[in-house]
Order: sequence, then structure tokens, then C-alpha cells
Amino acid sequence: MTINSFGVVGAGQMGGGIAQVAAVSGFDVVLYDLNDAALARGLGAISASLARMVNKEKLTQSEADQALARIQQTTDMAAMAAVDIVVEAASEDEEIKKNIFRKLDEVCKPDAILATNTSSISITRLAAVTSRPGKVIGMHFMNPVPMMQLVEIIRALQTDDAVFDAVKQLSLDMAKVPVDVNDAPGFVSNRILMPMINEAVFCRYENLASAEEIDTVMKLGMSHPMGPLALADLIGLDTCLSIMEVLYDNFKDSKYRPCPLLVQMVDAGYLGRKSGRGFYQYDN
Ligand code: NAD
Repeated sequence: MTINSFGVVGAGQMGGGIAQVAAVSGFDVVLYDLNDAALARGLGAISASLARMVNKEKLTQSEADQALARIQQTTDMAAMAAVDIVVEAASEDEEIKKNIFRKLDEVCKPDAILATNTSSISITRLAAVTSRPGKVIGMHFMNPVPMMQLVEIIRALQTDDAVFDAVKQLSLDMAKVPVDVNDAPGFVSNRILMPMINEAVFCRYENLASAEEIDTVMKLGMSHPMGPLALADLIGLDTCLSIMEVLYDNFKDSKYRPCPLLVQMVDAGYLGRKSGRGFYQYDN
């Protein structure tokens, strides 16, 4: 099972990062989003990230130019017809993802692998809406994708061993470190991380301390490189809330109840860095 070409659905912070790393690794990439504005934002972020890598001498200008030239952008899902693997990185919503998987199943060649970068949603349920459940898998990159080494490779109940092996090899080819994980809500990463972030939001909600102080406790006291509230702003508060809702709904355990402050901030449109305001203010 050889993978030469790559599709990415969703040109947000994760989809853009995945497209960038795939292109830098030498793959031709088709990047899909709903409209030209989302694609332009995504391509802008990729160009800026490549420029930073050139400045830091991690890439030459010519390597960055070649990587950018390998990314074809489209608003037509049919452009995925020839790719060997698609990684879906649209918003964290099960119905959106199921619709994308149904559509990909229609347009992609029969042996193409359909992967998802979901943070928490059941890969087994996404696989079940396709006619190729054995070729569906989770490929969970971390944010920011060009910087972070880890990829959780999540096996749905139906995933074929050959598909698992091919995706593991692909992660290595993208200079990432794959970890094998079975399918369960939040996998390993967000089963541990997101309840911690949610608890930090409760600390803020109950006014135990300011956002800065909560983050300082975790940075200086626990050696975390980033405080949980700053990390929540980076991830996106809408994505954090969606993940907590998946944990709460699927485990039916009150310990995963999303903090009311998190719900309220998302209702207000305070989504973190991407909207300019979260627990902190950002100059976008
Ligand atoms: P984002 O909000 O930055 O981007 C989402 C993108 O999906 C947008 O460009 C939007 O236009 C697009 N989109 C929405 N509906 C679509 C559809 N029907 N078809 C195609 N594109 C569509 O979100 P993100 O942070 O990039 O997250 C994307 C996925 O990656 C989510 O599943 C999220 O859980 C997962 N993830 C996020 C992080 C993180 O730290 N943010 C880390 C790992 C995984």
C-alpha cells in the first residue's frame, strides 16, 4: 500500500498544518475547504509558517517555494478522486464529519484511505458510514502540526492491519512519531488533556485565581510548557467544548461535565486566538 498523494479536508489551523507538513515531506497535496475565503486564510497561514521556517534556517527558500507549489487548493470535493489518502480536519462535529466521509467515500478511488484528525469523535462510527470501513483510521496530529512530533494513530474496530501499517509508515515519512491507540472517546491525548483544561476553566469560573495565575501554577509548578488556559485559547474554545461534550455524552460520567464558563465563552464567540479573544486578548 503505497501513499504518494495526499488530500486534506479543512484548511483551518490543523488542516493547513497537515497540508504544510505533507508538502514539505514531498507529497502532492489537494487542500479542500468550503469556500475561497477559508482557503485563502489557510494558505496565508501556511505561507507565514514556511517563511518562519526559512528565517530559522529549517528550510531553504527554494524548499519552501516547492512545498507551497505542491499544494493545490479546491472547493470541489471531486478533486480528491486521485489521491491515495485523505486526512479530514474539518470542525469537531460528528454530523459534519459523517457527511464529509459519505462524500469522500463517493468521490475517492476504492483503495484510498480515509483518515480523520478528529480530537475525540468515534472513528468506528465514522468508518461505519462508508462502504470501506477497513480503510478508515484516525490520524491525530497535534497543534501546531509543523512543531509537534506526536501523531496518535487510532484504529477503529474495523480498520485493516495493512491500512494501520501504511498510515504508521506515512507518519514516519512525515518525520512524526506515531503512537498506536485504540478507538475510545478522546483517545489517550484528550482523555487526559481536556479534563485538565476543563478543571482549569472551573478554577477560573470559581474565581480561585486569575487566568495568568492559574497558568503560572501549571507552568512553574508542574513544568508544563504552556498553561492550560493559554493552551485552550490555542486549541480553540469551541474545539475544547466539543471534545468535552463528546467525553460527557459517550462516557455518561458527570466528571466530564463542561464548565459553564467554557459554554458561555463559546456562546459569546470568544473562541481563543482564532477570534482574538479567549482567556487572553490577541492582536490578530
Ligand atoms: P478550525 O476551526 O481552525 O478549522 C476548521 C476548518 O474546517 C475551517 O477552515 C472550516 O471552514 C472547515 N470546515 C467546516 N466545515 C467543513 C466542511 N463541511 N467541509 C470542509 N471543511 C469544513 O479547526 P481546527 O482547530 O483546525 O480543527 C480541525 C479538526 O482538528 C477538528 O476535528 C479538531 O478537533 C481537530 N484537532 C484540533 C486541534 C487543535 O489544537 N485545534 C488539535 C488536534 C486535532
